[in-house]
This record gives sequence, C-alpha cells and structure tokens, in this order.
Amino acid sequence: MERMDPRPRPPASTDVLVVGCGPAGSATATWLARAGREVTVLDAAAFPRDKTCGDGLTPRAMGEVDRLGLGGWARDRITIRGLELRGFGHERRVPWPDGDHGGVASAVRRTVFDDRMRAVAVDAGSTVLDGVRVTGVEKGDDGEVVAVRAGGDRIACQTLVLADGVRSPVGRMLGRTWHRDTVYAVAARSYVRSARHDHPWIGSDLELRDEAGTIQPGYGWVFPLGDGEVNLGVGALATATRPANVAVKDLLRHYARNVRGSWALEGDPHAVTSALLPMGGAVSGLAGRNWAAVGDAAACVNPLNGEGIDYALEGGRLLADLVVAEGPGGELTRAWPEMLRRNYGEAFAIARDAARLLTYPRFLPLAGPVGMRSQTLMSAAVRCMSNTVSESDRDLVARAWRTAGSVARRLDRRPLFAD
Ligand SMILES: Cc1cc2nc3c(=O)[nH]c(=O)nc-3n(C[C@H](O)[C@H](O)[C@H](O)COP(=O)(O)OP(=O)(O)OC[C@H]3O[C@@H](n4cnc5c(N)ncnc54)[C@H](O)[C@@H]3O)c2cc1C
Repeated sequence: MERMDPRPRPPASTDVLVVGCGPAGSATATWLARAGREVTVLDAAAFPRDKTCGDGLTPRAMGEVDRLGLGGWARDRITIRGLELRGFGHERRVPWPDGDHGGVASAVRRTVFDDRMRAVAVDAGSTVLDGVRVTGVEKGDDGEVVAVRAGGDRIACQTLVLADGVRSPVGRMLGRTWHRDTVYAVAARSYVRSARHDHPWIGSDLELRDEAGTIQPGYGWVFPLGDGEVNLGVGALATATRPANVAVKDLLRHYARNVRGSWALEGDPHAVTSALLPMGGAVSGLAGRNWAAVGDAAACVNPLNGEGIDYALEGGRLLADLVVAEGPGGELTRAWPEMLRRNYGEAFAIARDAARLLTYPRFLPLAGPVGMRSQTLMSAAVRCMSNTVSESDRDLVARAWRTAGSVARRLDRRPLFAD
C-alpha cells in the first residue's frame, strides 16, 4: 500500500526562499511577507524543535520581539530586571540600563520561542515547511542562485536567505567561511527545577572555575524561565591559538553543584547539550548577487555576552529591508556585508578585542577583582557588554565606548563581515 505523507511538498518556485526557521529565518520571512513578498521557509527539523541556547532575551532582543508583536507574551512568561553578578568576593545587582533599548528582559525556552516565531511568520503570510532539508544549490550563468534542492524536490527562487545556523551547511556550498582565528565560544546549557524559577534577576557568575580551581575565560548563567525550571549553563571563550581547555558539560555540572543552594535547585541538570558560537562577524563570503546569510550563519553574535537571538531578529529585519529596497534583480554581494558593518562594525570590533583579552589566562584574575569592586564600573560594563549604548547617548561611557570601537575597527586584522 502506498504511504500517506502528511507533510505538504515544497512549491516548485517561490519569490524568496529562506533556509532555516530559527529566529533569523522566521524574522526575515515575517518582515518580507509583511512587505508583500512571497516567502517560503524550509527547515530540516520537525517543529517544535530544540536549539542549544541560554534562552535569554535581553532588552535589545525585547525591542525586536516587541516589533514582531510578541513582547507582551514574552513578558507575561517572565520579566527580568537585570543581572545579579557574582565573583571575586563580591555580589552586585545591576539593573538593565535605561535608554533606547528599554529596561526589561525575558527568557523563553527555544522549543517554545522558535515555534511561536514560526507562527508569526505563518501569520504574516509565509509558507513554512518543517522536516525539509535543503541539500543542494543550483547556480545560473551569472553566478546567481536559481534554485535549491531538497531531497528530490527542486524549488526555483529569486532570492535565497541563508538562516541555517552556526554550521551553515548551505552557506558552505556557496563559499561562506567562518574564521576561528578571532574569538568564538564553546558553551553548554541545561534545565533544572528550581524553587526560584520566577526570580526576576539573571544569575551571572563571572568567576567561573573548573573542578581543578582554574578560572575559565567565560561565565556561568542561571536564567529563570518562570515555568518551574531555570536554564543553567556555562560558556568559555576561545581562539584558534588558545582553544578552550575545558570539557564544557563537566564544567556545567560542576557549576550547578556550586549554585545549587543559592538557586534552590531540585534534582540534577537535564537536557545537557553543548554547541559552538561563531561571534563578531568572523565570516567571509556571506552574500552573493541574490543571496545572503543572516543570524549565526553570518556570525552575528555579541562576543561579550554570547547573545545571538537579538542579532538574528534584527538581522532578519535589516535584510528584509535591503531585499525590498534592492527590488528584483538587486545586488546583495556588497550591500549586505556593508549594512552589517554599518550596524555592528564598531560594537563587534571592540567586543571582539575585549573578549580576546579574556582568553589570556592572566587577564581575568587581574581585571575581575578590580571591576567587581565598583558598582559604577559594573553598571558601565553591563551596558557595554549588552551593546545597549545608543547613538544618541552622549555621556562619558558612551563616548569612550564608541571611540574604542572605531579605533578597534581601524586596527582589525580580520575585517568583520568580509566580502
Ligand atoms: C549554549 C548556548 C547558549 C546561548 N545562549 C543565548 C542566549 O541566552 N541568548 C541569546 O540571545 N543567544 C544565545 N545563544 C546564541 C543563539 O542560540 C543563536 O545566536 C541563535 O540561535 C541564532 O539563530 P539562527 O536563527 O541564526 O540559527 P538557529 O536558531 O540555529 O536556526 C537555524 C535553523 O536552520 C535549520 N537548518 C540548518 N541546516 C538546514 C538545511 N540544510 N535545510 C533546512 N534547514 C536547515 C536548523 O534546523 C535550524 O532550525 C546561545 C548559544 C549557545 C550555543
């Protein structure tokens, strides 16, 4: 008897084809569909799907979540007022900076958030098919992408968006390359039941020690989810010359033992997974005539806090604007990397340099105690690390951070978002 396949088949052609339905793919699809374009999104995974993540939505991300219409929904799950920083003999509560980016954050597990985002893309008019893996790309005579292959299906498209995540398998087919000579991170997350699952502050431990007592260049986090559990994880920075010298899942379990009492954890961490984070635009070849990479595929992750959801959502909106502005037959090869450099160049360049400093084993043990001694310094650090210094800010910290950013960009040995 013939097998009934309940999944709809991809269309033979579409105006815009988006590979990947994480935050980057669903945001790009939503904005393009809202602008009246015909959009098809394909994702290899069956939704709702998990993604290794801390699940944190910073104030910057909440701005995008608001624009997409999910702000109230996320805040109702949990509203987070700032960070409780710990380390080097100090504890400091630092509220999110007030300003253009608003003063609240949230945290939503990715099985829930990405599924909800997918529904937003569908509501906007996109066709979204899950369980469909893109396996090949077909180019025309001028080097433009004319179609993709998904198993036995061929889908012709005018524009291709690569939102296929950190490994970007389809991006690799088109020459997108991730450079690990600049800073990247290895990180692990887990879920744990906690009596403090609805605590409105994120726990952030800056003195992250492994079992042997060695300080690791990174931090441990506890993100309250408000649903009975917290997301507990650790991340360590690395470069090709100074790779992370630690087993992150073991480090996570050690960290969980250390914070068990303060977070009233119940039971052991479960669903422990780890992944790499590309950071700070350390990619080249991220666009061609009618295609562009966005989100993790474009290494759009803040090197200082590992935040990528915001840049995936923002990037999706920026790319949709560009595709609409360029119109049919538009040229993205230079325009897209240039747009990313304009929006994130300075912030990512200085963040990359600061993160690289942290990978030197002697830096953090010296700088950590100095920083944690001062509430003013830590408030400024949180503001810079979360990239919530706005163009309109004129205070000393904002001016110093912007100047450092432009100097870092000029001296950069590995240009960001290289053509
Ligand atoms: C441990 C860890 C903790 C993190 N914590 C945070 C945090 O707290 N806050 C934050 O903002 N960021 C965090 N990040 C970063 C964040 O997870 C990513 O930046 C974000 O998921 C990027 O979204 P994306 O849409 O680009 O990619 P993804 O969410 O990875 O989506 C890519 C999609 O593409 C699909 N795909 C891949 N290949 C194909 C193919 N060939 N065909 C069809 N579909 C395909 C995949 O199935 C997937 O659904 C963390 C990352 C890690 C590893």
